[in-house]
Amino acid sequence: MAGRRGPAGRRRPPPQRPARPGRRRRHRGARPPAPARPALRRAGRRHRPGRRVRGRPRRSRRPPGGVRRDRCRRPRAGGRGGRRVRSGPVRVGRRDRPRRRHAARGRPMTGRPEEEEWDVVVVGAGPAGSSAALGALAEDPSLRVLLLDRSDFPRDKSCGDGIAPQAIDVLAEVGAADVVAGWAPVRHLELARGDVRVSRTMRREAYVIPRAVLDARLVERAVERGAVLERHRATSLTTGPHGPVVSGDIAGRVVVGADGAHSLVRRALLGDRRQQRAIAIRGYAPTTDAVRGRQVIRYGARRHPSYAWAFDRGDGWANVGYGELLPPERERGSAPSRKLMLDQLEALIPGVAGSGGEWRGHHLPLSGWRWHQPDGPVLLVGDAAGLINPMTGEGIYYAVASGVAAGRAAARSLAAGDPDGAGARHRAEVRGLLGRHLRHTWTASRLAQSPRVVDAGIRAAAGDQHVFDSLVEIGLGGGRIDARLAGGLLHSLIRPARPTGAREPT
Ligand SMILES: Cc1cc2nc3c(=O)[nH]c(=O)nc-3n(C[C@H](O)[C@H](O)[C@H](O)COP(=O)(O)OP(=O)(O)OC[C@H]3O[C@@H](n4cnc5c(N)ncnc54)[C@H](O)[C@@H]3O)c2cc1C
Repeated sequence: MAGRRGPAGRRRPPPQRPARPGRRRRHRGARPPAPARPALRRAGRRHRPGRRVRGRPRRSRRPPGGVRRDRCRRPRAGGRGGRRVRSGPVRVGRRDRPRRRHAARGRPMTGRPEEEEWDVVVVGAGPAGSSAALGALAEDPSLRVLLLDRSDFPRDKSCGDGIAPQAIDVLAEVGAADVVAGWAPVRHLELARGDVRVSRTMRREAYVIPRAVLDARLVERAVERGAVLERHRATSLTTGPHGPVVSGDIAGRVVVGADGAHSLVRRALLGDRRQQRAIAIRGYAPTTDAVRGRQVIRYGARRHPSYAWAFDRGDGWANVGYGELLPPERERGSAPSRKLMLDQLEALIPGVAGSGGEWRGHHLPLSGWRWHQPDGPVLLVGDAAGLINPMTGEGIYYAVASGVAAGRAAARSLAAGDPDGAGARHRAEVRGLLGRHLRHTWTASRLAQSPRVVDAGIRAAAGDQHVFDSLVEIGLGGGRIDARLAGGLLHSLIRPARPTGAREPT
């Protein structure tokens, strides 16, 4: 905990001290150029030391929204610099003034004027968290939205960086579709397993944008709309008669858990509910001719669906990686090692593992047949909600869609004076949007555990653009298994297997 405690047990701003510079990571192998720093640091001036009088937030002529200094930096375990460095929040902007609880909003006064209460507290500022802030502020720009993240932005995130067009559609609804500006769209997709292959033009273009860029731009949009960004690692979530509280003293009338695959908010809400997971590793390698202008996916022989990918970023670099389904919890010991995954990548797409660098692995919590969101004022979004496509590992569209939905649900429930109703609203909204799709994608992922079905799907897609488009839609967006796709798959399954001539992009 950062601040010193006042008599009421609440946080008092600590004296300002210089923050410890961030640890530098060492990377091996090739390294793509660092993405340009977004305007975030300029937009919200950070790390400005200043004294604050308790109970009277500093005034500023800055527009709403901003960036607050981190509350605490955790000591490195047992290591050098283990001293906890404290830094008080820098208050910026009108909305940086948390409300006090008062009876007029149907909540009892706590008698603790120091208690921070926000309309919406979002834990995690990845695509899901920023989208939740954007969704809430698009619905009601006067809301006080606090966006917490343990990292400074820009920050890297292990990902294939593939952004589905459907994600951009949702971002357009909250005025943030320009986050892809300056990056070349990708139109061609190649799917292969051995010599069974299809390469076609997708109906809609996708993007491949490093997450260091995309996530910082999204955060920047949320701050521009009025959210307050603060570097802070949430350590707990409690819910009581007065509503949810993060890290002991950050109260939100609604709290959104957007803290990724190992979500603390999810654990606090649902416990250690078992969920199917995959694991994947990604790196960056110079783009080769075989990959230029396209997204390439090659299925492997291990636990299906397992595949290697190479996605051209359009700037001379490709995002390359490999992922596979994890065994059930009880077989944890047999999870693939980093070496094994890089060997698989090299075997499936020769040359990229050797020329690549910036390797980073992560878990993927895959969505199931039915999606869960409890009643109450705590909402789950993105990976924290277990929303990753089990067939493809795509999660950014779900993160953005569930994030915006949560923001709207929070704003509408607050407007109705019923923050406790936010959970039910969010559940209805996300199930309406994705419910059927999740059941279809779950079914497709079960079928794709059979290599024969994968081959049949690729052959059917090579023979029919509609089947290809439907598979892409199920893998990236909100698609479903329709009659023509099912028929094409069945036909391919019963037809004797012949090597498939790839359809080249037009
Ligand atoms: C190797 C790999 C490849 C992938 N490829 C693709 C792809 O090509 N396309 C695609 O659509 N999806 C892909 N995914 C999935 C995608 O990365 C995720 O679905 C997406 O990042 C989910 O966004 P999110 O905002 O829910 O979570 P995240 O992006 O993980 O963001 C969570 C945020 O919460 C913060 N946080 C965590 N804990 C705390 C805490 N206690 N307190 C404060 N902050 C906290 C983190 O710092 C982070 O910024 C891939 C995943 C992996 C691992």
